[in-house]
Amino acid sequence: MKKIDAIVVGAGVVGVTAALALQQRGLKVIILDQGPPGQGCSFGNAGVISPTGFPLSAYYRAFNLPTQLLKVSSPATVDWASVPRLLSWGIKYAKATRPDEVRRDTALLHELARHALSSYELLLGADLPPINRRGYLLVHLSESEVRRAISSNSIRTSHGAAVRLLSNAELVEMEPVVRGLRTGATFVEQAAHVTDPAAFVGSLATVFVQRGGLLQCERVLTVESKTNGDVIVRGARANYFPSMVVLATGAYVNQLLVRCGHKIPLIAERGYHVELDVEPGFIRRPITLPSLGAVLTPSERGARIAGLSHFGSPGFKARTQLLSSALERIRKRIPALKPRFGCQIWSGERPATPDSVPIVEQVPAHCRLFVVTGHGHAGLSLGAVTARILADLVTGKVSGYSSQLSSERFG
Ligand SMILES: Cc1cc2nc3c(=O)[nH]c(=O)nc-3n(C[C@H](O)[C@H](O)[C@H](O)COP(=O)(O)OP(=O)(O)OC[C@H]3O[C@@H](n4cnc5c(N)ncnc54)[C@H](O)[C@@H]3O)c2cc1C
Repeated sequence: MKKIDAIVVGAGVVGVTAALALQQRGLKVIILDQGPPGQGCSFGNAGVISPTGFPLSAYYRAFNLPTQLLKVSSPATVDWASVPRLLSWGIKYAKATRPDEVRRDTALLHELARHALSSYELLLGADLPPINRRGYLLVHLSESEVRRAISSNSIRTSHGAAVRLLSNAELVEMEPVVRGLRTGATFVEQAAHVTDPAAFVGSLATVFVQRGGLLQCERVLTVESKTNGDVIVRGARANYFPSMVVLATGAYVNQLLVRCGHKIPLIAERGYHVELDVEPGFIRRPITLPSLGAVLTPSERGARIAGLSHFGSPGFKARTQLLSSALERIRKRIPALKPRFGCQIWSGERPATPDSVPIVEQVPAHCRLFVVTGHGHAGLSLGAVTARILADLVTGKVSGYSSQLSSERFG
């Protein structure tokens, strides 16, 4: 058998970018996934590559979280059957809502997101698939939302992001469809988007293969790491003996960590999308409606509505009705937004850490086993950024991020 330097388990946006970064450092890499690339959570995101980022704890504070989760019209809810398994995560989340923690996590997320696009450029060079660089809009639906936006925008600006409040005339000129929503809008200039996130990941995987990588369909059953450092990946079809393993299985990472005695605080935060019955060009850039927890985003067929936060333990049952109800509320303001005939509501599980900051680490006491996950709402934005941090870690290059992105930060 040919020598394998590294196996990356998981071909979502995080795993494929990680594999590309390791390959760039001269390693022979195989990606194993139970299905084609980009069919997990990375399939149906809103396609935004954002240069800024806030943790969820900046929006849902510990004291108002129960009300938010119970309110019928809230964009956030919980799978009640999962609650007993979410308690320890919930305690860590509550700690992450302390003002000093929110400030620290906001600064770190902005610092990482600032390199979102340039990291893709560094990884892909001339092979970078098409990315639309038209910014994105946050539309504010009430005067109180505008006031909150002014304060968030000053934080974005203090971290170096180019954002500005638009006049109504500017907003309608940019996106005539939001004519009926004109209370105010923020324009995030350096944001970009892709119109087909799954195809984007597929193209990255193609580049990985063209550069000599192997992509194999394999469901990984267990990962064992011996005291002498050897790692064995046992798959449904074959066993593998690489020099090192990177787990990038999104919300499901803990399943493969069981035999290593390590567990990271990670839950699944389901989001949903549905294709809308509109033509391509209906909107030119993603339009976020923060108070409704949804993003109206350009897609190959026209546009999608994507979003919501439905918390549970990995594998919990989806409730597509949540998106149908949210869409009904949005249609009161933009009646043209009907689901496309015959299109099902899709849902995917975001890997969510308590502080919304990803985890990139070497598994304690297992020197050849690494984890990269926990990107929550920002996997497409931060995929290439964390890939480069992971490659530094794996190749022993000193990085200032080792403690900030390690799961040991939760104690
Ligand atoms: C509605 C919605 C909108 C979003 N919008 C945005 C956005 O606009 N911008 C942004 O940056 N982010 C967005 N996100 C978040 C982003 O999609 C996620 O952070 C990202 O997809 C996580 O990628 P991942 O590679 O970690 O996980 P996944 O894409 O889930 O990949 C994990 C892979 O591991 C594989 N796997 C799991 N277990 C095994 C096993 N045992 N053996 C083999 N393979 C296995 C799965 O098949 C899967 O392919 C959104 C998410 C949702 C749900």
